[in-house]
Amino acid sequence: MKLSAKGTREKHSRKKTAGRRAANTVRTRPHLSNEDRKKNGPVKIGIVAIQGDFAAHAAMLHTLGAETVEVRTVEHLEGCDGVVLPGGESTTQLQFLKEEGLFDAIRKFSTQGGAVFGTCAGAILLASKVNNPPQESLGLLDMTVLRNGYGRQLASDVFYEPSKLKQEPLEMVFIRGPIIEELGKGIEVLARHEGRPALVEQGNVLAATFHPELTDDTTVHAHFLEMASRAPAKAAAAR
Ligand code: GLN
Repeated sequence: MKLSAKGTREKHSRKKTAGRRAANTVRTRPHLSNEDRKKNGPVKIGIVAIQGDFAAHAAMLHTLGAETVEVRTVEHLEGCDGVVLPGGESTTQLQFLKEEGLFDAIRKFSTQGGAVFGTCAGAILLASKVNNPPQESLGLLDMTVLRNGYGRQLASDVFYEPSKLKQEPLEMVFIRGPIIEELGKGIEVLARHEGRPALVEQGNVLAATFHPELTDDTTVHAHFLEMASRAPAKAAAAR
């Protein structure tokens, strides 16, 4: 994906990449036999749908064979194997999560083994410590983040950087993303931008300071689906 000088997204022909996507489609729940897979159905991912680009996450996950549900209440988490916290404004999203009881429910969901993936504002919400300004967060990833760390709108751009997920460079779209300032010991860095961690993983939690859902590269979402397919309980509904 390309950003114009003003930081807006140029439309891409989806047709052009259809072949690449098909080849990239993950076999969900690889540890299950074909029979079990039929019984359990596709991996189900809840996408927190308050604001931001939740529809882009859904579109990408569908191309990879996952089922998705928009999450606005605790009940929507029922039966999900994973949850996506999309980009947007973390302050607004935090307030909504608290009001709806989703803040505690998502923490419980993660503790019970459900996979959680945060992009940009979502990564901020996952951190154990937030700076600039300080704000409460879910604390599911042992890391300190600096909001708008690359500057404000001017720092929105597309970069290509190596990752542990594939041989070719990963396309990274940054839109007022946070900088990961400090990382706990147990966290694996899957990709960096300008030498700083940009895609990190700890157990069943994944965070990107960029927006993989705004590219045609399904690598990061395919990786998350693999994580979600290992979620121990289909009905990890956190009540
Ligand atoms: N700057 C936003 C925040 O601090 C995150 C931006 C994004 O998600 N693209 O919440």
